[in-house]
Amino acid sequence: MHYDVIVIGGGMGGLTTAALLVRRGLRVLLLEQGERTGGYVTSFTRKGFTFDATGSFLGGCEEGGEFHKLLAQTGALPHLHFLGIETARNIYPDFSFDLHLTGGFEEYLSEVKKRFPEEQKGFEKYFALLRRIGAEIGRFETITRWQMLLFPFFFWHLIRYERASLGEIMDQSFQAEGIKQVLSSLPAHLPPARLSLLFTATLISKVLAQGVWYPQGGMGTIAQALETAFVEGGGEVRLKTEVERIEVEGGSVQGVVTRGGDFFPAQTVVAAINIRRALIDLLPEEYRGRFSSMVHTLEYSLSSFLVYLGVKMDLDRRTLPYFTYVSPGDAQVEYDQLIRGEMPDYPAVIITIPTLLDPSLAPPGHHIVRLMTPAPYGFRDGWGWNDQSRYRTIKEEVAHRLIRLVEGRYLPGLLKQSIVIEAATPRTLERYTANEKGATYGLAPTPGQIGRGRPANKTPLKGLYLAGHYTRPAHGIVGAALSGRFAADMISKEYRR
Ligand SMILES: Cc1cc2nc3c(=O)[nH]c(=O)nc-3n(C[C@H](O)[C@H](O)[C@H](O)COP(=O)(O)OP(=O)(O)OC[C@H]3O[C@@H](n4cnc5c(N)ncnc54)[C@H](O)[C@@H]3O)c2cc1C
Repeated sequence: MHYDVIVIGGGMGGLTTAALLVRRGLRVLLLEQGERTGGYVTSFTRKGFTFDATGSFLGGCEEGGEFHKLLAQTGALPHLHFLGIETARNIYPDFSFDLHLTGGFEEYLSEVKKRFPEEQKGFEKYFALLRRIGAEIGRFETITRWQMLLFPFFFWHLIRYERASLGEIMDQSFQAEGIKQVLSSLPAHLPPARLSLLFTATLISKVLAQGVWYPQGGMGTIAQALETAFVEGGGEVRLKTEVERIEVEGGSVQGVVTRGGDFFPAQTVVAAINIRRALIDLLPEEYRGRFSSMVHTLEYSLSSFLVYLGVKMDLDRRTLPYFTYVSPGDAQVEYDQLIRGEMPDYPAVIITIPTLLDPSLAPPGHHIVRLMTPAPYGFRDGWGWNDQSRYRTIKEEVAHRLIRLVEGRYLPGLLKQSIVIEAATPRTLERYTANEKGATYGLAPTPGQIGRGRPANKTPLKGLYLAGHYTRPAHGIVGAALSGRFAADMISKEYRR
């Protein structure tokens, strides 16, 4: 069989690229090392409980939203149903705060404004800036040739704030620590001083603008829907097939070789995997040089630790909403500890109870409680990885510490009423997806790694493209899916030519 395109990796980036290209008439083969597609976006079942391996929410699923449109283009939309997440609770050391999310960005804004009336002026200034940046990012997607020529005129804010951090702008806008804590509680595993302002503006004004969503049936349904659409379109998926080498001859890609030794020829290859593996480990030695300095200066995101609990408890939305964020207090102090390889005593914790949205994920009368916290890959010699019993002990110890923390404050009796307890360390995340040291979000969204600061989707090597959360435009389920669209658009253009 001859393929036009081979996609390496069946995460959101790879699946989206593959599903789009097959619909545009190309012959596409997707190779995935795991037992199923999805990468981080997958579900697993234990004793009748369906757990989400990683994600908890996504944006852009409303009619006409960014992700909704993309799913329609791939053919996956009819296989999915999204449930709106109504409330998120943020708990800080001195106060807690329920955000009602169904009204989207405007409702979120008015609630934060009400909570901090003394910050009214700074607030208006800050959000006016975010809106202006958001508008420029929106315009950038349909940039015309003459706008490109007059770039500084049309995209003044993107240039001015390219290297700005969220912390810097918040310090200029606000006095109270409380409002800074609320506005920096974002999915990035970075403290405000290291988090890109442009990333924040994109996330708030574009991805989360109309609220946040959860797919009925669990996160894994998103990957299943994309895979189904791809196969329905005539694409081919091979699971348990790890790509070990990308063949290059005379400066052009020729195909890939798998661990099993099979060679699949194709003149276009999309590597939707860990960028270091793609550009260093998989390429022939003579082609690595041109990428090595770029790859070695990249900063990867921190990893995560997760606990999955199947519980027999009487929970409802009055106990906790679906999504609760427990702040570590000082995000900078927490981050410094994590970077040193330590697990903080009072870390940031995200508690999710997906059965409040979709009861079918657990047996009747039961619930799923999932805990997630940022975690360093190097904790206690890399989680004692070389010694299986030490690894298990460390994992159990950290899981129980997290359970006790949540049980003591928010869910009494959690441990005792658990029927299933499982945990995932950074090593688990790495093992299943080959992400760099279990990086949660691929590249860290620092000011230097946003927009043009991220590796481009088309590489200088003829026929080699990149997708996924190490590339443009961003991380996250929607970010990685969009990277797939970017890569697919470039490849289609090349074929049309
Ligand atoms: C704990 C956690 C929580 C998160 N929460 C959210 C959230 O709530 N909302 C959100 O939007 N995002 C969230 N994210 C981030 C989001 O899941 C990712 O940014 C996104 O899914 C990345 O997709 P990807 O395609 O880039 O990569 P991946 O999901 O890593 O997929 C890569 C795939 O490639 C395969 N692969 C790797 N190497 C090879 C090889 N050599 N040959 C063949 N196959 C290979 C892997 O097995 C994997 O299936 C979370 C991530 C984590 C870890």
